[in-house]
Amino acid sequence: MAIKDLVVEQLKRVKGPDLTGNIVDLGLVSEIVAADGKVFFSITVPSDRAEELEPLRIAAEKAAMSVEGVQKAGVVLTAAKQGGGPSSGAARPSPQPAPKPQGGPPKPAGIPGIGAIIAVASGKGGVGKSTTAVNLALALHGLGLKVGILDADIYGPSMPRLLHITGRPQTVDGRTLKPMENYGLKVMSMGFLVEEDTPMIWRGPMVMSALNQMLKEVEWGELDVLVVDMPPGTGDAQLTMAQNVPLAGAVIVSTPQDLALIDARKGMSMFRKVEVPVLGIVENMSYFICPDCGSRHDIFSHGGAEKEAERLGVPFLGAIPLAMDIRETSDSGAPIVVSDPDSPHAEVYRAIAKTVWEGATASKQEAPSIVFD
Ligand code: ADP
Repeated sequence: MAIKDLVVEQLKRVKGPDLTGNIVDLGLVSEIVAADGKVFFSITVPSDRAEELEPLRIAAEKAAMSVEGVQKAGVVLTAAKQGGGPSSGAARPSPQPAPKPQGGPPKPAGIPGIGAIIAVASGKGGVGKSTTAVNLALALHGLGLKVGILDADIYGPSMPRLLHITGRPQTVDGRTLKPMENYGLKVMSMGFLVEEDTPMIWRGPMVMSALNQMLKEVEWGELDVLVVDMPPGTGDAQLTMAQNVPLAGAVIVSTPQDLALIDARKGMSMFRKVEVPVLGIVENMSYFICPDCGSRHDIFSHGGAEKEAERLGVPFLGAIPLAMDIRETSDSGAPIVVSDPDSPHAEVYRAIAKTVWEGATASKQEAPSIVFD
């Protein structure tokens, strides 16, 4: 029997929060990740009982450790929404509205106070998704909007560095988190909540419940728009997120190389599958601006994203050059839109932000509106 299955067997001996049933059959245990003699999982409990249920966590840890070959067990309690009850398993998202009698999949409910949620996604890592997300958020703020940014990139949270924010968020009432702030943006990131050396595999099972908490248990206040920096790729974690976050639309970031475009196509079909409108493609690192002479070089097959966007019938949002000052300003925690707002690069981000905002507000208007002349 695999270690995971042996752990599940042992966990069946741990009683549920109300001493009825067991935590496995009650659906409270997340996916179990096992590697190198370590196992990791989470247990969903009502958020107001986390402290009281510490003995349950310890019992689960002991049960896991009793399996031969397990040297370390990482067990955390994650909060369920109040009244979430036993049926809301840890790996599952928060309760969904009842399915519609016909038509597509049910849409997740909106978040009170947040006007529109926009995902910034990419088919693979390293294409400049986070750099684009942060400059887009700052440019939206520059348009006079109230903007938040949620860093859901579990594999490499970058908002603390990009926005030069350190420390931990405060809680308001022992439970709700206050977002961090800089440059006029409200910010929440996995990077504020998870230690940097937390093993990557551990983050997977926690991701959906953590994301739900970052969306719903953060005091965002009134926001016109919340930009979500998605984890790269189009796997299950991304699909679950796209499905469970009430998105007004998605922006796909791609580099010009064909390979990246194939990944970008996957991203687009993922959002289409869950009926989230794709607001358009941004071509990042589109051409190279020589730092010495300022001249432009099309080192990749520039224009690929634009052609692809046309072919797929989605808006092309703009081309951002591969420029030293974009990288340097991001890496030093003062993205170009705030550190050099008059630069041509900042202008490109502002133009993209305008188009994105128009697209997001248009996609929200499902019912016909009455226009007075
Ligand atoms: P992702 O979120 O897709 O993994 P990042 O935004 O973290 O990518 O970018 C990866 C690296 O590329 C970072 O060092 C970033 O500063 C750099 N970078 C991103 N966009 C540009 C650009 N347009 N010009 C120069 N460097 C860029």
